[in-house]
Amino acid sequence: MPQATPKLNAFPVFMRVEGEAVAIVGGGEEALAKARLIGQSSAALRIVSDAAEAELLAFIAANGAIHIAAAYDAAHLEGAVMVFAASGNEALDRRVAEDARRLGIPVNAVDRPELCDFFTPALVNRAPVAIAIGTEGAGPVLAQMLRSRIDRMLSPSLGPLASLAASLRGTAERLLPKGNARRRFWSDFFGGAPARAVDAGQLSQAHDAAVDLLLSNAPASGHIALVGAGPGAEDLLTLRAHRLLMEADVIVYDALVPEAIVAMGRRDAERLPVGKRKGCHTKSQAEINALLIELGRDGKRVVRLKSGDPLVFGRAGEEMAALRDAGIAYEVVPGVTAAFAAAADFELPLTLRGVSSSMVFTTGHDLKGNSLPDWAKLAISGATVAVYMGRSVAAEVASRLIEAGLSPDTAVAVVENASLANRRRFHGTLADLPSLEVRADLTGPVMTIIGDAVAGANFECSEPLAAHRHEGAAQTAAEGAER
Ligand code: SAH
Repeated sequence: MPQATPKLNAFPVFMRVEGEAVAIVGGGEEALAKARLIGQSSAALRIVSDAAEAELLAFIAANGAIHIAAAYDAAHLEGAVMVFAASGNEALDRRVAEDARRLGIPVNAVDRPELCDFFTPALVNRAPVAIAIGTEGAGPVLAQMLRSRIDRMLSPSLGPLASLAASLRGTAERLLPKGNARRRFWSDFFGGAPARAVDAGQLSQAHDAAVDLLLSNAPASGHIALVGAGPGAEDLLTLRAHRLLMEADVIVYDALVPEAIVAMGRRDAERLPVGKRKGCHTKSQAEINALLIELGRDGKRVVRLKSGDPLVFGRAGEEMAALRDAGIAYEVVPGVTAAFAAAADFELPLTLRGVSSSMVFTTGHDLKGNSLPDWAKLAISGATVAVYMGRSVAAEVASRLIEAGLSPDTAVAVVENASLANRRRFHGTLADLPSLEVRADLTGPVMTIIGDAVAGANFECSEPLAAHRHEGAAQTAAEGAER
């Protein structure tokens, strides 16, 4: 037998209050809390108290509420559409509730559910959109937690977007036949160019885009968001990234992005791994570019998910150029890059007053040529250097920097799987760095940070790199094989 859905004992409705009187009886904290809540609507607030506290008086003045500064009398409730008994005095609240009921006005008595005709929700306000949360007996803490969770999920521009929708409804109904055409228009409106323009604060462009959509019967145009997934920990994803993931039709992701983050996407989104892990390229960059263009042409909303920040060693430059050439709209959402996550894991100040005032994001892979890359000079002049994809070239990085004049004693910090529960930290000097290359136990992504500022890190949770120091190549191979 299918299980019956439990029944609600209080049913949510939205009550018209525009210009209507809402009476609050009380002068303290409880009254102020209700005034703030109802003050989010266009109701005419009427506050009855002969002893209003300063904060409530300030609220009344700031919000143009009516203040009846007299001892409570039932006549003060007349004409109101809702009454709050919020005096903090049980006898008075009870009197207010009885009077309201006699006058046929629904009443809420603060903290006295037995006297209430209705309860107030925790409110997420994106006027004209409102989300009301009720938890019946489970209490205000749960309601507030849910409120803040939902609040974070919703774009701040939802309100203006809904207002724009409201202003276009009549026109849409006149121009588009009921059914599929109209439904598709609204889905493109809320998920496409108009929504993105409102998000970017461009209201008149949003209006134009909506009108374009209304007038053309063209299929929806696709959009690609190049999104930074952060270093791995789910809660280092930005709110914007999370929102886009929940709206995506397709998620195209790299191997370094953990499954748990991909799983945060819309349940029915198509998920396409495109690999790119060292040594096993599932798709070439050209194939990825072509895939993004194809999805864009199909009108899909695509999240192109990259680890860390998409603009740091993420080949976003090539993808953006391809999308531009193909005339497909895209945007970039920054993420927490691995260097920042590694620094945080090490409590390592990337800039340190009097020690280091610049930093370099680099990869060891440009050390292959004969000329010393520019960043080596910066390192020597005191910059903090973050080396991406540096594990397999650790020896090269160290020897070239030492050759260039950086002291072999320069501090080095290494983090594997930064930000994740299984992260590991190592510390040492530039002279110890080559040992990284031969450690077969480092299977996760590795970030290396070099420079005098590293000396300011916390080494309490890290192992010394020196334990793995090596001299000759033969020994290196042997050590590598042992592990
Ligand atoms: N766009 C990414 C970098 C991609 S290049 C960013 O901004 O972080 C891949 C390299 O990033 C890896 O070889 C490693 O050096 C580094 N990396 C990515 N995630 C990491 C993590 N959780 N811990 C340590 N290094 C990481």
